[in-house]
Amino acid sequence: MSRRGEILAEMGLSPIWVLRDKSKPEEEKRSSVSGKTWIELKQAVQGCVACSLHKSRTQTVFGVGDEQADWMLIGEAPGGEEDRLGDPFVGQAGKLLDNMLAAIGLKRGDNVYIANVLKCRPPGNRNPQPEEVEKCSPHLRRQIELIAPKLIIAMGRFAAQTLLGTDASIASLRGRVHAHAGVPLIVTYHPAYLLRNLPDKAKAWEDLVFARKTMAGLQNQGQTTFPP
Ligand code: URA
Repeated sequence: MSRRGEILAEMGLSPIWVLRDKSKPEEEKRSSVSGKTWIELKQAVQGCVACSLHKSRTQTVFGVGDEQADWMLIGEAPGGEEDRLGDPFVGQAGKLLDNMLAAIGLKRGDNVYIANVLKCRPPGNRNPQPEEVEKCSPHLRRQIELIAPKLIIAMGRFAAQTLLGTDASIASLRGRVHAHAGVPLIVTYHPAYLLRNLPDKAKAWEDLVFARKTMAGLQNQGQTTFPP
């Protein structure tokens, strides 16, 4: 086994990892560059009326941060404060998220990008509906393509299940490296859940330490991904 293979095996990431450029068929490479630019995507989200959430939103919440970030954190949908201010995770859950990031040496906007599955607030913060996710998914997909993060952290059951196409529980998804569209993905609890379930903060801390270790491995290896 090569040295690289040995290191990946040590991290429990072998044998699935391959170099990003080699992992995608020509067709897929073409489509990822022929999509919308950042400006086009932002405009598309701003004017989106694809589902009924546009009727009740104050504004869309596109995402925030470093558009070339290695880290991408994905939550569920904007809440009241986010709908009012136009940025994700600016309410109570956002404060906790900022503290969680700080605990692993990260800062919103600094090599970190934060987005949600849905770009509009569901009324009364109800759960997103399948049709809303279906209509909104292309926006997130393109965001991920444009950022090309090294690692995604899916926060909460909804983001994790949507990005991984599963109905498995957070508990069963934690502690492993998954993949979404060829990007390594780690699952943790949603900050809003942690505000209501303080004892699980320790588990979220474990997840972040695991994420940091995984990222260190990815950075040492250069740009890596694995096939879906
Ligand atoms: N919860 C989310 O999932 N996203 C936000 O932006 C705010 C709260």
